[in-house]
Amino acid sequence: MKFGGTSVGDVAAFQRVINVVASQAERRPVVVVSAMTKVTDALLAAFDTAKKGDLAGAIGMLEPHFARHVEVSKHFIPDETPNLFDTELEFARKEISDLLMRASRRSLPLSMLKDAVVSYGEQLSSRLLAEVLKSCGLNARQFDSRRLVVTDDEFGAAQPIWEETRDLVRLDLGRSIDAGEIPVAGGFIAANRAGETTTLGRGGSDYSAALFAAALNAGELQIWTDVTGVMTCDPRICSDARTIPVLSYEEAAELAYFGAKVLHPKTIKPAVDHGIPVRVCNTFEPDEIGTMVLGEAGESPSRIKSIAHKKNITILRITSARMLGSYGFMSAVFQVFERYRTVIDVISTSEVSIALTLDDTAEIEKIAADLSRLGDVEVEPGYAVICVVGNGLRASTGLAAKIFSTINDINIALVSHGASSVNLTFVVKEDSAADVIRKLHKDFF
Ligand code: ADP
Ligand code: ASP
Ligand code: MG
Repeated sequence: MKFGGTSVGDVAAFQRVINVVASQAERRPVVVVSAMTKVTDALLAAFDTAKKGDLAGAIGMLEPHFARHVEVSKHFIPDETPNLFDTELEFARKEISDLLMRASRRSLPLSMLKDAVVSYGEQLSSRLLAEVLKSCGLNARQFDSRRLVVTDDEFGAAQPIWEETRDLVRLDLGRSIDAGEIPVAGGFIAANRAGETTTLGRGGSDYSAALFAAALNAGELQIWTDVTGVMTCDPRICSDARTIPVLSYEEAAELAYFGAKVLHPKTIKPAVDHGIPVRVCNTFEPDEIGTMVLGEAGESPSRIKSIAHKKNITILRITSARMLGSYGFMSAVFQVFERYRTVIDVISTSEVSIALTLDDTAEIEKIAADLSRLGDVEVEPGYAVICVVGNGLRASTGLAAKIFSTINDINIALVSHGASSVNLTFVVKEDSAADVIRKLHKDFF
């Protein structure tokens, strides 16, 4: 059972989590928890502030967030009970100050320090939740995920090393479950082989939960959040978005990848590999089934299941006559992206040009400089990717026409269709994205 940040935001949210965990205690759950809402952002902001030299400012901005933890702890845990959370918080305060000081003095690599700082969100939330569950009579026990999930050295977006992680999880959590305990572990945080703290990328708690579920061969992976399942589009854009009862793994993966924040893109993989059903459910409406993500899902009549989108996208175009009829050109282009460890989202090619989209533009200048040796390069920020997902999309006649006629007054910068049987992806100017999504949603749902 994974609980996201919004599910552990305040006293009322913790109460909902307690109820959900208690109601399924006999199913032998493992609880994975994110940082309390806004805490990861605050830790990242504090890190940036410290990096710029304002150490006192950085430490000061975390105080209100510590106070939110204390409020929850005071509410649920009686004063006279020995409380591991208070001790943990005291240590965390000192350790975070020390790490921020190092960041301001650059006395260790910044990417390493950043992960160390940001990991306190989940370290604190998992300790707090375990103590709160205990005070409510549940046999909970906190585990430090940095001793369970082993990753490579890619700070900020580390890749788990499966076999090692699986063995540790089986040993530690398996033993705890067998002893009748409810293990509680922070998501998102991990450590490399040297024991240095790493993180799995934003939203990565879902991924941690999927790894634990796979290692333990769980009967079900439950992603508890603040909406009832995966919906026909982001409910923040269309208020009439509806819950999708069943999604295939493939559909869910495309949606997650193209911006449906409700699931982390990689969550699906460990679950698919181990045939574990995933359920996305709502802590505000715990009795609703939410969305089931299964190996195979039926095709809905319109064939479109959902519309995902991702903003802040940059288009990069390379044009070169050298591309005409030659081989190895694409490979040369891809090598540049590999060199700068930058992921390409959508790609489309013609005889003499390639257009592609990027989400992460940290290295864009170097990439453009290297690519300019291959041809003319244009970089255009300010786009959004819109991804229409549904089983059988590739095979259905007239659907693309229907999609594009719905938005015939909008300029489409790039289209990708046919690579996967479940999606049609296109790119529009960012400021028209919400409008496009609402029009499509109205037409198809
Ligand atoms: P958590 O803190 O539980 O991990 P997230 O904020 O990561 O929650 O994800 C939940 C949010 O994802 C929702 O509040 C919703 O606004 C957003 N979202 C985007 N696309 C979708 C979609 N297709 N279905 C449901 N939620 C979506
Ligand atoms: N706390 C992390 C984040 O905000 C991980 C997560 O919530 O899944 O990105
Ligand atoms: Mg999330």
